[in-house]
Amino acid sequence: MKKTANLASWVEQVIKDFIEKSPENTLQNKANDRAFEAPLVGFSSGADPIYETYKEVVGPFHWTPLQIFRQTFGEMNAAPEELTVISWILPQTGATKADNRKQTTYPAERWARARIFGEEVNEKLRKHIVAILQKNGYLALAPALSEQWARKESEKYVFASTWSERHAAYAAGLGTFGLCDGLITPKGKAMRTGSVVARIKITPTPRPYADHHAYCLFYTQGICGKCIPRCPVEALSEAGHDKIKCRSHIRPVTADYVKAHYGFDGYGCGLCQTKVPCESKIPTRQDVE
Ligand code: SF4
Ligand code: SF4
Repeated sequence: MKKTANLASWVEQVIKDFIEKSPENTLQNKANDRAFEAPLVGFSSGADPIYETYKEVVGPFHWTPLQIFRQTFGEMNAAPEELTVISWILPQTGATKADNRKQTTYPAERWARARIFGEEVNEKLRKHIVAILQKNGYLALAPALSEQWARKESEKYVFASTWSERHAAYAAGLGTFGLCDGLITPKGKAMRTGSVVARIKITPTPRPYADHHAYCLFYTQGICGKCIPRCPVEALSEAGHDKIKCRSHIRPVTADYVKAHYGFDGYGCGLCQTKVPCESKIPTRQDVE
């Protein structure tokens, strides 16, 4: 076991070092641009009752940390309070956001690269954290990389999955949901997120909010709505996010565009995550006045 007084700082530094120093953090373009800027890290407890509530708000198929831990390692002796969910936010770079701000229908090349090659970075980071934790004696797994992870579709939940990275990040105090369903974090909504479940005791990060929409100006102050006109297919309205319209734009429309114009198999959009007051920060009334 790692001999350190502060396991939270140790884990946080491992995540930050990977993004800041590893050559794996790349958009795989000619310029070899970094995919992400310095991450945010938060922790939630495996015993946090919020994970039971996700069975209602995400779907009954959504795992608790204990469920996926036991599914992975068998019915070994693990109590929920021994588990920690380690979550991180990988903010898009200034260049990626600037490029996507100019777009009105299709994703910028950097954005599409961040969706595909950036997610590969996120995947490598998940594996890296699991490997470091295991090496130091802590059983760990990345739910999103589990063979049992599955997409779920239903009339009630539309598109969901057995583990939502955004909900894990919400539980870890890293952000709240916006009108377009994106997670608004202190580094904004233009980001990707990941998590690992481990048998390690780390004090949970306090959640500085009581409501899942606390950072969205539309829900809290009845103003903004700047993401609505950003959507090229009217998937956003005051009623929220139409996941079916959104999904049909992303695939096949943006996939065909990315292949034809940027020359790789990819897709993406993120127009509602850029050129909006919550793009790179928690927005305030002053940002829309
Ligand atoms: S652009 Fe405005 S309304 Fe849309 S998610 Fe951000 S804060 Fe909420
Ligand atoms: S990701 Fe694109 S298609 Fe989907 S809601 Fe946002 S702007 Fe619309």
